[in-house]
Amino acid sequence: MEANPNVMVLAEIRNGKVHDLTWEMITWGRKLAGKLGVKVDCAVLGARQDDFQKLVHWGADRVLVVTGGKPDGFLVTSAARLLLETIRAEQPGIVIAPATTFGRTVMPITAARLATGLTADCTELDIDPKDNLLLQTRPAIGGNIMATIKTARTKPQMATVRPRSIKPGVYDRSRRGEVITRQYNTGDNWQEKLVSFVRHEEKDINLENADIVVTGGKGMKNKENYLLLGELADLLGAGLGATRVAVEAGWAPFARQIGLTGKTVSPKVYIAAGVSGKIQHLAGMITSEYVIAINEDVDSQIFNVADLGIIGDAPTVIAHLIQAVKAQKKTNGRHG
Ligand SMILES: Cc1cc2nc3c(=O)[nH]c(=O)nc-3n(C[C@H](O)[C@H](O)[C@H](O)COP(=O)(O)OP(=O)(O)OC[C@H]3O[C@@H](n4cnc5c(N)ncnc54)[C@H](O)[C@@H]3O)c2cc1C
Repeated sequence: MEANPNVMVLAEIRNGKVHDLTWEMITWGRKLAGKLGVKVDCAVLGARQDDFQKLVHWGADRVLVVTGGKPDGFLVTSAARLLLETIRAEQPGIVIAPATTFGRTVMPITAARLATGLTADCTELDIDPKDNLLLQTRPAIGGNIMATIKTARTKPQMATVRPRSIKPGVYDRSRRGEVITRQYNTGDNWQEKLVSFVRHEEKDINLENADIVVTGGKGMKNKENYLLLGELADLLGAGLGATRVAVEAGWAPFARQIGLTGKTVSPKVYIAAGVSGKIQHLAGMITSEYVIAINEDVDSQIFNVADLGIIGDAPTVIAHLIQAVKAQKKTNGRHG
């Protein structure tokens, strides 16, 4: 079969539905496909009832709704067999998936079976204009450098991409594309079965979708000061984040850690208080729209990515901010 050079993106499925992260994957797909002059195929593994046209509106040229795996919920080998069959049939040049539990499990199995390369956990994807190969950038050597990797000799080129590493493109209802159903026989010799599904509860920690994130680092000095940030976050309706140093000091649970080994956020406003801005922390917040940094050291790296820098003692500045927001709210309450 003639190789089809399209870019294939894998839809993220959660609770039987196509998850919002898929829009980001399609956006990456469009960026790459645009440079290569090819199309974007979005593969939805497992028969799901959903409005697949919306994937076209987000930018997919073809939506491949793939059925035939083991029917009861998400199972890695079932999804991997479906992906394998889809790739064999469609022969895409590039396959990308979100670096979630789904992508991080299904993609390596599939890549191994295809004897091709996979770069996990990329933060940036691009096309090398010299040879049209995929440039896959990810932190390496303990996060101390950013490495750009190419899969030069095998196809397809496969990568998982960190959630929130790109803003979703424009949702366009007038976009036209195809929704195609494919059925594959993946056999019935399954070594696994779904026993139960236990949700990991992270009560009150909704960082990834917050419009404002307030994050505290070592410069907040102690837990009591760090908790002031929680008060500010509540007043602003913001998510509360922490650096690894703050987590290791016991001021916040790991679920609040932002960075390479923590969460990736992309809020409208990111407030970093007493945060130095080391590369491993920046990896988790660099796509924030507007960064406000409070640090007493004028040479701190965080100021390199800040839109607004406040030089001063972070706990004191935060205490003032809390008073100012409270006063503003009171005034607003009186007038409206
Ligand atoms: C493999 C690996 C993975 C990692 N993953 C992560 C990760 O996911 N997330 C993460 O955050 N880190 C991560 N790190 C750690 C990272 O390298 C940094 O050590 C960490 O981000 C620093 O946290 P910090 O900014 O709180 O502390 P520091 O780097 O110690 O900085 C404290 C800052 O506070 C300022 N300061 C001090 N006193 C005050 C004051 N009174 N008022 C205002 N400012 C003050 C200082 O000038 C300084 O800039 C990782 C490291 C490695 C090697």
